[in-house]
Amino acid sequence: MTHLTPTHPGLAAHACDPAHSRGRRHAEPEAPTRSAFQRDRDRIVHSTAFRRLVYKTQVFLNHEGDLFRTRLTHSLEVAQLGRSMARALGLNEDLVEAIALAHDLGHTPFGHAGQDALNECMAEHGGFEHNLQSLRVVDELEERYPAFNGLNLSFETREGILKHCSRRNAERLNAGEPKGVAQRFLDNTRPSLEAQLCNLADEIAYNAHDIDDGVRSGLLSLSQLQALELVERYRHQTVREYPALQGRRLLYETIRRMLSDQVYDVIDATRLAIAQHGVHSLEAVRAAPALVCFSAPMREQSHELKRFLFANLYRHPQVMQTTEQARDVVRDLFEAYVRSPHEMQTDFARRADTHRAVADYIAGMTDRFAVREHERLTGRQVLA
Ligand code: MG
Repeated sequence: MTHLTPTHPGLAAHACDPAHSRGRRHAEPEAPTRSAFQRDRDRIVHSTAFRRLVYKTQVFLNHEGDLFRTRLTHSLEVAQLGRSMARALGLNEDLVEAIALAHDLGHTPFGHAGQDALNECMAEHGGFEHNLQSLRVVDELEERYPAFNGLNLSFETREGILKHCSRRNAERLNAGEPKGVAQRFLDNTRPSLEAQLCNLADEIAYNAHDIDDGVRSGLLSLSQLQALELVERYRHQTVREYPALQGRRLLYETIRRMLSDQVYDVIDATRLAIAQHGVHSLEAVRAAPALVCFSAPMREQSHELKRFLFANLYRHPQVMQTTEQARDVVRDLFEAYVRSPHEMQTDFARRADTHRAVADYIAGMTDRFAVREHERLTGRQVLA
């Protein structure tokens, strides 16, 4: 499998080529006009879990405002950034898009608060991890095809979706799918460049949009952001060119410049890493250290921004307050369904693995459905 000649013009030798895909778990005939990864992307867009992303929290709860990012708009931004970088690097854009659009399908309602609460509830029953859940959604939980569960996506798309995995979970997955998507967590090898790229595009996207949403919400101020080298550099540039600019337009232009620069930085640094490691095949990509990267100074500044957002936005008392309520909603729902599984939809109520069925059911909920169910089951109105 080394040095396969790419079947698409513009595709680098180290890219994922759909003609050389490791295939689907259930064999299917090829589509007449679409590549395997185009088909994966299309299946994801048509899935039920994808439509739910529009009503799921990214940082701000869905009902807090119409202009905040949701999981859906976040995923679209990740796909956009990912495709831009993929094209410049000769990587497979369709695969990047498929992974980006699917990467958050397993997220619970209420963002990380929901995931943490569900993980605590599931502590004695195998835990809950949103990444693993995204894979579960596309492998098991979607019910759209007559002959199999899930969306039956290509190996490369599934591999990209499973971006983290504990050793214990990897062993469990590997038992069901020997040498499958979890193998690399046991071998300590890398996924495709397309998968690596989605990871970094995710980070670039949320750092940028959380600044925007943070300022929009009034929880962050532009002057506070000036303490950050990364933000201040582009704000300064902008003000030099447009001295009268202020407010939202100044913020947008600052973020726009920061995003462009980060994208170009990743393209340059990744090209350099690929050249330095002499990588010319997907096999070599897997054996090499992670190749999709920021330059060292950009990595440091991006981490600084991340730490800033953590301390000043994600841990902001106002965000924490809704976070606490969201945890309560998830805990109450979990207890209620475990006690009375028949309160769930029939497919879930019938399952023998009650705790996992409850976790799957809750994880699939949109914010507002969870709030409504909580009120129906407990009589208490929270987060409404
Ligand atoms: Mg994400």
